[in-house]
Amino acid sequence: MKKIEHIGIAVKDIDKAEECFSKLLNTLSYKRETIESEGVVTSFFKVGESKIELLAPTRSGSPIQKFIDKKGEGIHHIAFEVENIEQKMAALKQNGFVLINDQPKDGADNKRIAFIHPKSTGGILVEICQEK
Ligand code: ZN
Repeated sequence: MKKIEHIGIAVKDIDKAEECFSKLLNTLSYKRETIESEGVVTSFFKVGESKIELLAPTRSGSPIQKFIDKKGEGIHHIAFEVENIEQKMAALKQNGFVLINDQPKDGADNKRIAFIHPKSTGGILVEICQEK
């Protein structure tokens, strides 16, 4: 893993959360992007070498809405940047980690991503991502 690329935070209201994090981090969101297939709108902030990704549901029944219903707003996942996502996925599987995705999928912010199931990482949803 190269670094913590971003931390994903589940929020109910993207506008309110953007305002809050703009004040907190003293910088504006540099990108807002909707991933229609996932029913999520994302907003990104730069924090030094890493980023904060706000995630809000665009429809009921979406994975992020289910997360908020179950656990409330808060930290959703930690994303690590990798050099080669296919290689890393194979290595993780070999080491006994359970991957949610069989193949990398397109994520926000120009990334290919895959998730590790929280049951194999002590309850933390972990994303690995590679810049396209
Ligand atoms: Zn993410």
